[in-house]
Amino acid sequence: MLNRLRQWLCPDLAIDLGTANTLVSVQGRGIVLNEPSVVALEKGSRRVLGKGTAVGKLARQMLGRTPDGITAVRPLKDGVITDFELCEAMLRYFIRKARRQGGGLRPRVVIAVPGGITPVERRAVFNSAERAGAGRIYLIDEAKAAGIGSGLPISEPIASMICDIGGGTTEVAILSLADVVVGRSVRVAGDEMDEAIVEYFKQHFSLRIGTQTAERIKLEIGSAYPLTQELTSEINGLDTISGVPRKAVVTSEELREALHDPLAAILSCIKSVIEQCKPELVADLADTGIVLTGGGALLRGLDLLLTEQLGIPVRVADEPLTTVARGTAICLEHLARWRDSLDAGDGPA
Ligand code: ADP
Ligand code: MG
Repeated sequence: MLNRLRQWLCPDLAIDLGTANTLVSVQGRGIVLNEPSVVALEKGSRRVLGKGTAVGKLARQMLGRTPDGITAVRPLKDGVITDFELCEAMLRYFIRKARRQGGGLRPRVVIAVPGGITPVERRAVFNSAERAGAGRIYLIDEAKAAGIGSGLPISEPIASMICDIGGGTTEVAILSLADVVVGRSVRVAGDEMDEAIVEYFKQHFSLRIGTQTAERIKLEIGSAYPLTQELTSEINGLDTISGVPRKAVVTSEELREALHDPLAAILSCIKSVIEQCKPELVADLADTGIVLTGGGALLRGLDLLLTEQLGIPVRVADEPLTTVARGTAICLEHLARWRDSLDAGDGPA
């Protein structure tokens, strides 16, 4: 009864703290917030703009086009907290926005984090969340949350494999009996793809473009495997020789060439995880295959490229951008069942 009242006043939260996007779910209500992990700051004081409200969508619009005194930053650039205070400010803003009321009560919070983060980085997540208003805090491995969110039988003694391609990191893991058997995290994902596109335009088109433009073109015509109908798009940039703005037409074949290196890095990460796995589990993978999650999973033909290169079935999860958030929310919903396998730090019981 008391617990019900507490839940009503101060519902628990599940947070997918992504490098590109943060998603917050409220117990019983599903995903209530989905915003870019970006904070806008005053340069000198490093104060968050607008009394701490220039976070998320608003701040993202400022990325790359801020006037001098303002800067827009991503507190989790490579999947870890690069700026502790900013992460805290961002979490505080999101937690406040997701909660209706709650007064002084502190919600229990389950947060999905990359598998590769160090104990110091884990501590930083705990501290940020705690100072942002969270009560009991549990961390779940992103890959595990992705497995739960995509409906894989991860609690069974059968191997399932997840590859979550986010903004800053790609998480690759083989799961069995509710745990990560072998996992690896590489700092090559969507951002690296954008940077590879910027570099490609500089070298092959003598054109300087920003990472935002690179991302737009990646979403528009990016692919990992030949398309039945190849695409083209127009791009605006700055001519690196004459120094004046210029347009160029780019094809999906060219963009595939630009994406070659980051895709090769992701492929080799998957291969290395499979190589470290016991033969019995590898045998399972031939049936269960690999599930792709995260925004990078939406790159056209990525499943086809990986299926061809790895010789095992690869499929994209339904709504890959929200898989981890949904898995984290399921974990929160059944906390009694999952609690023992989560990292609860050494905070208060
Ligand atoms: P994170 O979990 O790190 O916050 P997300 O899973 O939200 O990351 O994915 C964000 C990344 O996915 C960005 O780099 C974005 O450019 C990329 N992305 C989103 N949609 C697509 C798409 N259709 N094709 C390729 N990449 C995409
Ligand atoms: Mg993610």
